[in-house]
Amino acid sequence: MIIDLAGSTGSIGVQTLDVARRHGYKIATLSAYSNVDLIERQAREFRPAAVALIDETAARELSARLADTDIRVLVGSEGVLECAGSPGGDTFVNAIVGLAGFRPTLEAIGAGKKICLANKETMVAGGEIVKKRAKERGVKILPIDSEHSAIFQCLQGAPPDGRIKRIILTASGGPFFGKTKNELENVTVEDALKHPNWSMGAKITVDSATMFNKGLELIEAVRLFDVSPDAVTVVVQRESVLHSAVEFEDNSIIAQLGVPDMRLPIQYALTWPDRFDCPTPELDFFALGRLTFYPPDEENFPCLGICREAARLGGLYPACANSANEEANRLFREGRVKFNDIPALIGRAMESDLPADETSVEAVFETDRLARSAVLSACGLTA
Ligand code: NAD
Ligand code: MG
Repeated sequence: MIIDLAGSTGSIGVQTLDVARRHGYKIATLSAYSNVDLIERQAREFRPAAVALIDETAARELSARLADTDIRVLVGSEGVLECAGSPGGDTFVNAIVGLAGFRPTLEAIGAGKKICLANKETMVAGGEIVKKRAKERGVKILPIDSEHSAIFQCLQGAPPDGRIKRIILTASGGPFFGKTKNELENVTVEDALKHPNWSMGAKITVDSATMFNKGLELIEAVRLFDVSPDAVTVVVQRESVLHSAVEFEDNSIIAQLGVPDMRLPIQYALTWPDRFDCPTPELDFFALGRLTFYPPDEENFPCLGICREAARLGGLYPACANSANEEANRLFREGRVKFNDIPALIGRAMESDLPADETSVEAVFETDRLARSAVLSACGLTA
């Protein structure tokens, strides 16, 4: 296995390299946005043929620092695409955050690579296109998102025609579990970034606080496992130990459990259908004591309902919800809108007139532009 890793400096990227280090997997390319110090260290350790950074100044600095090596340094989104399609790799791990991961996934599919997908925004915004191209190219898509890895694991050995009655998608509830809209009115970015169970990048941590993350995952599950949105039940599982489950026709439920540690789903995507020893610690049932479940609170956290509706509407609505959220999430992290504004802003964007052509890559990016400008104009800002 030779890996092209996009988003190598982020939370999933670093954990992917942990797994690669343990098993001696080779790295063909690394790419990221701008973290020169970290990608330089990663490049010196894993010796890829090429590395790419989106940020031009950072790429120039990296090029100077790696001048004593034969590692090529590429620049910008073209550089990231070149890495995704590099002739040296056979497995593409997409750990980029946001819709920026869409084109690299298509590029890697075009090059015939196995796709290990952490970048859920790609499946939400362009899932039908990704699935179609992967099928045409005979490429496998393996989920890294822990819930989808769990569902995928629960389906191993299930009959090929599925007979999935229901997917039980678990959620931690995030840092604001149990709070009312009133109590959420003045929460800060710092509060939102304190996730109880997982240490992740800033965007997904805020998405977990609003529960938009669970909405994205509901759509991701619909796309990956070909089920209707109404066949996905979200259940809050406070300890994040039961990572999701599948209920079959006969009401038998198969669930996957483990400690919350992304290295397990990352490794399973890389090694499927094999299993090997993993850096993730064992689950200690007696130390855990019990598992607690609650229904999701959709009144105080409306983002999940918005995504369920987008999934029901289909077409470009999931792409619209995703892009509106990327923008609203960013504005919240920059201190420019309040926490409770996020669902309202996404709701406004969902009223946009979306492109009639629902099947092209260009239409996804046109929807992205429309959704982001709807969010900005709803707060009196411009792009
Ligand atoms: P992060 O913010 O920690 O890392 C994002 C990475 O993407 C960084 O390396 C950054 O440099 C890079 N990046 C950003 N824009 C880019 C661009 N245009 N081109 C190339 N690289 C770019 O995020 P994360 O928490 O690692 O999450 C990554 C993805 O995995 C997200 O889609 C997230 O939803 C998903 N995910 C993460 C976790 C987790 O535990 N962190 C769990 C499940 C799914
Ligand atoms: Mg998840």
